[in-house]
Amino acid sequence: AAAALTLAGCSSSERGGSGDSTDAAGFAADSSIGIALPDKTSENWVLAGDLFTDGLEEAGFKADVQYAPASNTVAEQQNQISSMVTNGAKVIVIGAKDGKQLGTQLQQAADAGVKIIAYDRLIENTENVDYYVAFDNFKVGQLQGEALLAGLEERSGHGAPWNVELFSGSPDDANSAVFFNGAMDVLQPKIDDGTLVVASGQTEIAQTATQGWEAENAQSRMDSILTSTYGSQEIDGVLSPNDTLARAIITSVQQAGKDMSKVTVTGQDSEAESVKSIMEGIQYSTINKDTTLLVEQTIKMIQDLQKGEEPEVNDTEQYDNGVKVVPAYLLAPVIVTKENAAEAYANVPSLLEIVESY
Ligand code: BGC
Repeated sequence: AAAALTLAGCSSSERGGSGDSTDAAGFAADSSIGIALPDKTSENWVLAGDLFTDGLEEAGFKADVQYAPASNTVAEQQNQISSMVTNGAKVIVIGAKDGKQLGTQLQQAADAGVKIIAYDRLIENTENVDYYVAFDNFKVGQLQGEALLAGLEERSGHGAPWNVELFSGSPDDANSAVFFNGAMDVLQPKIDDGTLVVASGQTEIAQTATQGWEAENAQSRMDSILTSTYGSQEIDGVLSPNDTLARAIITSVQQAGKDMSKVTVTGQDSEAESVKSIMEGIQYSTINKDTTLLVEQTIKMIQDLQKGEEPEVNDTEQYDNGVKVVPAYLLAPVIVTKENAAEAYANVPSLLEIVESY
């Protein structure tokens, strides 16, 4: 049976590769593929859109790449996905704005035989999500927690206990809790044993959330914590879930007159401005989630689906969306500090150039 399957796979892949012929189980090689992305608040989303446009067209598909607009975002993303289905997309890749609010559109997609790939963010509470492709989000959080501890040792100029504050991402993004839980997997034992003190007392995820992943929301929360809690004591570190928020937090800490060379702030996404900040000794760490690799992996999945083959996954346990465990392909995130930046960005020319300019 295995041999027969392999043979069937081979022949279908040959058929799928030519022109617009339709495979029995797949679809035409020049089909339209929908890409629905949430917003442009982080560089990685902007880059992903460009890479999908180029990569899909190079692979022979028609790319329909849409961003949800800044206002009425959830409803607009729902409309965009509906239109993609109506316009005949065979696969829709979704970076969800709110992963809990796509049930109706994904039922419509399933009824039309459209495959759905959740990209970077899990889509929840629906059986109509076929695959998930992302960096290992829990691992991202763990790496952030470890970086925070390492930075405190290196920079604070004193031993434990250290005063830290915790930030998490937008509550409508399923990743936010996974990042936070990963970080707390490392940090909670250190809070429990007194190594870390969250001086504001705000340790629940709801208290640490940053609505919309918006920089101004993180900055104003940091401002008020500094005012209320750090008049007479020093802040040693901040867990920030991404670079956009890290820079907002750093602005707040700097405006309060603190010396950033002693404060550890984590991040994620390897945004150019944050890589500069790390090289200047201001932000402590970021995470490299190479968007090029994630888009390549997604396009590979789409090509498999086009040929009528089952895409490769490497995780069938972690991502329970409330209705089913979504088969996932997870890539490995890499922690980046000033120390390993050149090595970490060896394959990312634009960032390597920044690192080498210091
Ligand atoms: C992504 C992060 C990003 C954040 C804000 C998350 O879902 O995984 O990389 O920083 O959204 O855009």
